[in-house]
Amino acid sequence: MSQERRYSFEFFPTKTEAGHEKLLATARQLAGYRPDFFSCTYGAGGSTRDRTLNTVLQLDGEVKVPTAPHLSCVGDSKAELRSLLNTYKDAGIKRIVALRGDLPSGMGMASGELRHASDLVEFIRAETGAHFHIEVAAYPEMHPQARSFEDDLAHFAAKMKAGADSAITQYFFNADGYFHFVERVRKLGVEQPIVPGIMPITNYSKLARFSDACGAELPRWVRKQLEAYGDDLESIQAFGEQVVTDMCKKLLDGGAPGLHFYTLNQAEPSLAIWNNLGLPR
Ligand code: FAD
Repeated sequence: MSQERRYSFEFFPTKTEAGHEKLLATARQLAGYRPDFFSCTYGAGGSTRDRTLNTVLQLDGEVKVPTAPHLSCVGDSKAELRSLLNTYKDAGIKRIVALRGDLPSGMGMASGELRHASDLVEFIRAETGAHFHIEVAAYPEMHPQARSFEDDLAHFAAKMKAGADSAITQYFFNADGYFHFVERVRKLGVEQPIVPGIMPITNYSKLARFSDACGAELPRWVRKQLEAYGDDLESIQAFGEQVVTDMCKKLLDGGAPGLHFYTLNQAEPSLAIWNNLGLPR
């Protein structure tokens, strides 16, 4: 794996002015840690098209950390995708996270012209050549809709071969699953870096719900301990910080090429892990 490690922080665009101000304050605080880049999520079907665009341009231009927009292809036409790509390219954005996306329930699946993330990667390359560094998503514990693990690994390898430069994983709480995934896809010819996505633990019920939906396993011993803390947020956060720090240490010691933090627009939980690991500033 690469010796050059990279560290990044992810945000989501907010609906309110107050939320946006909080995001900017968080981003300014995190910028002081000199991450390699920020990223900002995109609501599949274009629900956050303008908010993602504005947030990316502001983080990149004003907070002055290179920022990667997420872009998903379900529910967006090629013309809409092309227009966004050109806007980002003209604004000097150099990195993009290319996804299939999940349409909100009730919106169906087949409204976009591109079906899979690999189609979007090919489209971005065809439209903009080598301009963007393309990130894609990886699922060490298998994408929840995949027919089988083998099938998912093969689709991931095809997506990398379509022109992706690196991948960021769905979050997980088991370092062995990550190493197993990396080993398996290396045998399929994938050579690009696969960066673990890290979710700090700050709240039990939300995390449990979200993990069930996205197919990330919350190990039984972690689940049981978090449950036992009930409403004691301080203990949940202290225990969560220790669990995630220990896992990150294992990942980095085992050769992971960096870390990507799902900040949920909060600085402290990611920074606590960052500081525990003694990462550079
Ligand atoms: P794909 O790579 O297309 O894979 C999706 C499923 O289709 C998998 O089961 C795969 O095995 C299967 N598949 C792939 N290719 C084929 C093929 N040729 N034939 C048959 N089956 C195939 N969602 C958002 O809406 N907005 C975001 O900003 C966002 N950011 C994310 C960031 C990261 C780092 C991650 C890990 C996920 C993110 N997601 C986001 C969630 C993501 O959109 C969902 O997990 C979605 O269900 C799959 O997207 P994908 O790009 O992985 O899809």
